[in-house]
Amino acid sequence: MSGVNDIRSTFLDYFRKNGHEVVASSPLVPRNDPTLMFTNAGMVQFKNVFTGLEKRPYSTATTSQKCVRAGGKHNDLDNVGYTARHLTYFEMLGNFSFGDYFKDRAIELAWNLITREFGLSKDKLLVTVYHTDDEAADYWKKIAGFPDDRIIRIPTSDNFWAMGDTGPCGPCSEIFIDRGEHIWGGPPGSPEEDGDRFLEFWNLVFMQYEQVTKEERVDLPRPSIDTGMGLERMASILQGVESVFETDLFRHLIDAAASALGHAPTKDNTASFRVIADHLRSASFLIADGVLPSNEGRGYVLRRIMRRAMRHGQLLGAGEPLMWKLVPALLREMGQAYPELVRGEALITETLKLEETRFRKTLARGLTLLEEATGDLSAGDMLDGETAFKLYDTYGFPLDLTQDALRQRNISVNLDGFNDAMQRQRAEARANWAGSGEAATETIWFALREKLGATEFLGYDTEKAEGIV
Ligand code: ATP
Ligand code: MG
Ligand code: MG
Ligand code: MG
Repeated sequence: MSGVNDIRSTFLDYFRKNGHEVVASSPLVPRNDPTLMFTNAGMVQFKNVFTGLEKRPYSTATTSQKCVRAGGKHNDLDNVGYTARHLTYFEMLGNFSFGDYFKDRAIELAWNLITREFGLSKDKLLVTVYHTDDEAADYWKKIAGFPDDRIIRIPTSDNFWAMGDTGPCGPCSEIFIDRGEHIWGGPPGSPEEDGDRFLEFWNLVFMQYEQVTKEERVDLPRPSIDTGMGLERMASILQGVESVFETDLFRHLIDAAASALGHAPTKDNTASFRVIADHLRSASFLIADGVLPSNEGRGYVLRRIMRRAMRHGQLLGAGEPLMWKLVPALLREMGQAYPELVRGEALITETLKLEETRFRKTLARGLTLLEEATGDLSAGDMLDGETAFKLYDTYGFPLDLTQDALRQRNISVNLDGFNDAMQRQRAEARANWAGSGEAATETIWFALREKLGATEFLGYDTEKAEGIV
């Protein structure tokens, strides 16, 4: 049986047998990296090893890394429930070479794993390479025996990876599976590539250069390998289902939600069940790793995830807080592989319960306001920013919750209006404070807050800067 737990151990065992050190997942809150919201790839814990700043007693490693992509540069929050392949929390299986083997061995190891251990049929596989990377294309020809038309050359940054503006970088090669014509979508590089027929499941990064300055790039003396395979995506392939939500683990979580709610998913409300199952995982793992809901930074991303799930619970008719009731099912599925979930059970349960109990008080009223405000709107219209801001400020609706609520009706939110309303409210608050007779202190306090706000990631401000909102 190819359950997620078996796939994880097959992957790690395979690389262990091939000389790799099995290294534990690092926490979701990256250590010593304030620039990164959450760990979003397997290589994060090895950044300093790749740059040479840090030495390890091994030169190759393999991990199953907990990842969250819900905020920051990689943000898949809006995709969840709407594509077959995106989750906010997922596990990235990876193998790494720190100046040890390079392209040919990386391709050979990947190819043998997917065709021999996982038994994927060669006929359904195809790969992309960076358009100038003849070396990788040649290895694919030699090792996999692919004809040219199964090696797609991509000229965009999708196939060129960089750690940052400077530092290690290099071309990458992604492995896709064709799941058949009955699923909409086209091969990578085609106009229909957003569909789900061609599923990307493994990305091999060949770190062979160092970007020294903006203009200067040099060859790394000892090139390295970083790869990432989505565990849940591989499970959907091996289990022959069309989306990650139909794999064993997600079916069990969705069943738990269905029994707590007293009804099973239907075609019309499947997305809500999927969002709940996904957000249960990301929220629980974040809490287990020490993030608590708050109004800024990481805690605010957690709050947004939780409240979004709670609205979907409400949509499904939950008469009382729902999310905390699903924790035992999550522990059954994942507690063995992730003991921090078991240790954190009480905290996870209480946090979910408290947040949902509080939020339910304003959720229903906010949704009524939203309905009233959008009653006359139709597809393609925009909700005014004032109302979206009132929902945020008075009813605790994160902006993306309002957007998510309107998405099915194809109504957007006037973001400029929202930001204006927020600015106005801040200015008013400042003016009121200044009038309270302690002007000097408050001016300093506000000045400090403005200053820190620009650098510290405070909710929407920075996300706007990162181009998410
Ligand atoms: P996509 O194009 O589908 O969004 P990606 O190119 O952003 O994926 P990478 O950054 O290359 O993904 O990550 C490596 C692997 O991790 C992917 O090939 C995929 O298997 C998995 N992965 C990435 N994002 C997600 C996600 N949101 N949910 C589940 N698995 C994911
Ligand atoms: Mg992506
Ligand atoms: Mg991709
Ligand atoms: Mg990719």
